Amino acid sequence: MGYYCLRCKRIVELKTEYQSVRCPYCGYRALKKERPTVIVKNVKAI
Ligand SMILES: [Zn+2]
Repeated sequence: MGYYCLRCKRIVELKTEYQSVRCPYCGYRALKKERPTVIVKNVKAI
C-alpha cells in the first residue's frame, strides 16, 4: 500500500510491522492514500 505524508509529502510504504498509520520520517500521524495516478509497484521482499 502506498501512502504519502500530509506534512512532509513523502511517500510512505506501510509495512506489516507498522500497526499505526504514522510517518516514519517526521512522525506525523496523518497519511493519505496515494493517488491512483501514482501507482508505484515496487515491492521489495525483505
Ligand atoms: Zn512526514
